[in-house]
Amino acid sequence: MIDAGSAHIMRKASKILQNERIDAVAITHIHEDHTGLAWWLQKEKHVPIYIHKNSLQEASDKSDIPLYRRLVWGNRKGFSALPIPKYFQTNHYTFDVIEAPGHHKDHVVLHEKNMGWLFTGDLFVSSRQRVAFKDENICDTIHTLKKMLAKDFDTIFCSHSGMQKNGKEKFQF
Ligand SMILES: [Zn+2]
Repeated sequence: MIDAGSAHIMRKASKILQNERIDAVAITHIHEDHTGLAWWLQKEKHVPIYIHKNSLQEASDKSDIPLYRRLVWGNRKGFSALPIPKYFQTNHYTFDVIEAPGHHKDHVVLHEKNMGWLFTGDLFVSSRQRVAFKDENICDTIHTLKKMLAKDFDTIFCSHSGMQKNGKEKFQF
């Protein structure tokens, strides 16, 4: 599983996830809308949760976020995470984990080069970004997008806008 949703989708998501086979959870970055169910997955599914090594400490604590984010996504509980490895191997796929700072300094993306898939987290939500956190680094985002253009991919899986074909083309705008 890549990313773990927000605390506010707990009731619906847990009903779906309880019947799914999940072997591990890879998290693109620490924000509460990507980590909200991590504690539940750990408790109920007994799976390892992986996140960037610089976010391990923050993950272990309950999130401390402004009111508007608590209202939109909800606070998340702390969870015990492991440092994300350089790649994940499943029965059918290999996902390379690539550092992708910008939206968050410790953000990663997962690249399945044989399938041309890129799981982008919050690296790229749309061609014309309208909002940003005050600690986002737009120069890093541009640098990361340029770095990713050198990779083979076509389909992007965005945590907010879903699956998009021609993802590489969209990165170039
Ligand atoms: Zn984010």
